[in-house]
Amino acid sequence: MKYLLFFALIMSLKAETFTPIPLNNELSSYEKVAIPFDNITLKKNWKTRIEAIKNVGIIPLIDVESSFNPKDFNLINYAKTMDDEGIAMIAFSAQIGEKAYEKESKLWHDSPRNLMSADPSRYVPTSTAGTYPAWTKEPENFIKESIKQATLQHYLLLGEFEFRHYLSPRQYKRNEYYRDVNIPIDSPASHLLFKFANEFGIPFQIHYEIEDELFEPLEKMLQLYPKAKVIWCHLAQIRYSEKAKKYDPKLVRGLIERHPNLYFDLAFGDKDSIYKPSNEFQSRIWDRNTGKLKPEWAKLIEDYPYHFLTAFDIGGDREDELKNKAISSREVLKSLSSKTQEIVAYKAFWKLIFNEDY
Ligand SMILES: [Zn+2]
Repeated sequence: MKYLLFFALIMSLKAETFTPIPLNNELSSYEKVAIPFDNITLKKNWKTRIEAIKNVGIIPLIDVESSFNPKDFNLINYAKTMDDEGIAMIAFSAQIGEKAYEKESKLWHDSPRNLMSADPSRYVPTSTAGTYPAWTKEPENFIKESIKQATLQHYLLLGEFEFRHYLSPRQYKRNEYYRDVNIPIDSPASHLLFKFANEFGIPFQIHYEIEDELFEPLEKMLQLYPKAKVIWCHLAQIRYSEKAKKYDPKLVRGLIERHPNLYFDLAFGDKDSIYKPSNEFQSRIWDRNTGKLKPEWAKLIEDYPYHFLTAFDIGGDREDELKNKAISSREVLKSLSSKTQEIVAYKAFWKLIFNEDY
């Protein structure tokens, strides 16, 4: 009976269109919306979409951290998959490709304006992704441009900026060693970013591999800029255990207690995912025997639910993974109480972005 009900629920979800599907597939066929973004109207759109998903008995998911390739993005497929999987919104950051950077010395990508014109209910415009080459070659100029545009256009979220970044499994396969990034968290570019966030309250995301020696400089920055809302992406993703001996739920708990504006996103591999360069299981959060989150991690999330946010970590090279990411995110939620599930799925995002309870 339980399964039948579940099946019926899934079928009803599949048939649902929560907000209109874009008519054209090409992002460039849409004119850019006027700036600054009309965040009051957008907020209404987002709430309507969240409510529509809730009304069919599904917990809406909001993805706080993903990026896309504006030249190769399938608007219609995305809209349909989002509706099929009960995904309310994706905070989407545009990627500047190598060619655009080299030809036009681009430090900013304006395509979220096309995105918001094409589909103003499913996406939350997020500033240009801090990745190779624009960010890694010119970190200070990149931050200055991001701040300038975010202010001018009224962006609600910035990131993700790769400070310490190892090659992703796909980049490793392609020998993209330039994706190994090390921009110190206390560098001049970083000070500009923290200072801006401290002053204006706009949250930003960092990619910062977990290494013992990286904690101290991050904590100094959090102390120096206590109002900066920092989302440290990929909770408990450890790729080289010998470099990260101190990291555990107790350490993260201490960080949250000392720095109430520190947040974490839950974009990490599934329980069997191995990081090839080190041959280690990269997501330390899973209990591989039970297939659930380790109780000490689940307890931490239960104790501080508003500090943990659902995230898919989609990139231009893995846009086809949307459905699987949604399934994995719901798998994570299963280890949490129903109250915490709702918070981690979408309410924590709402509170972080709008400073109000959903
Ligand atoms: Zn990342």
